[in-house]
Amino acid sequence: MPELPEVELVRRSLEKEVEGAAIEAVAFSDFVKKGHATSRKTLVKQELDAFSRNVEGATISKVGRRGKYLYFIMEKTGGIFHMISHLGMSGAFFVTDSIDGITDSNYRKHWQVALRLQDGRTLSYCDIRRFGEMLTIGRMSDFPPFSRMAVEYTHPDSLPDFIDRVRGPANRKKAIKAVIMDSTVIPGVGNIYASEALFAAGILPTRKAGNVSVKRLMSLHKAIAEVFDLSIESGGSTISDYRGVSGEKGSMQDRFHIYQKKSCSSCGGPVKTKTIATRNTFYCTKCQR
Ligand SMILES: [Zn+2]
Repeated sequence: MPELPEVELVRRSLEKEVEGAAIEAVAFSDFVKKGHATSRKTLVKQELDAFSRNVEGATISKVGRRGKYLYFIMEKTGGIFHMISHLGMSGAFFVTDSIDGITDSNYRKHWQVALRLQDGRTLSYCDIRRFGEMLTIGRMSDFPPFSRMAVEYTHPDSLPDFIDRVRGPANRKKAIKAVIMDSTVIPGVGNIYASEALFAAGILPTRKAGNVSVKRLMSLHKAIAEVFDLSIESGGSTISDYRGVSGEKGSMQDRFHIYQKKSCSSCGGPVKTKTIATRNTFYCTKCQR
């Protein structure tokens, strides 16, 4: 599942490809249309007509990211609005001459929303497992996940906010791993980077958040920032389905210290696994306390 670094890499590629491009027409896959015909709001979380009406004729003026969400600032006569996208488990964007030009056949088969650009290219959203989301909103604050989300890890307020929220009454009795995966505490940490950051900071994922000292929380915040930055530099992690806009894979998976490892990269001891917050967690009881 794409986490913050992978979404940031998609944003950077999309920025180069589509900023300034105008959208001429929208097409939806049969899967999306069928879902909507039975009022399930499949992938597109609003009426398809409304989505098309908003997006057609708009110009993409900026591609941004908030946590694991992408947002496109769209300009149209009469003002600006936002197109939001979450990649779910296996979403990917491609910019090609047409849908047929997507080289990876598995993604090509699973295109879901295709935006035809005025310059003749197509911006396609493909999703194999179909847990992604797209929708248009007016202001960013109209979207509840954004209004609740903590500031980005690069923001100067992120560290003090992080410490306050981890130790706050809502979280202090929960496992630290579950707490750092909550976007109201710090945005963008998913299952992989939670295991990696806790290992780097030497903190047991099962430890109660309220029992982690401020000093250790400072190390943990630093570890999250470092693991994000390293992953962005490495082109992200390609565990199963993540692809960049040109179909490229990342190499961060070769740099994991604990995630999906059998033995600890530091002491050589056995790596333990446990389900925390419904996801498999990897840790070393010797190096993490
Ligand atoms: Zn160890």
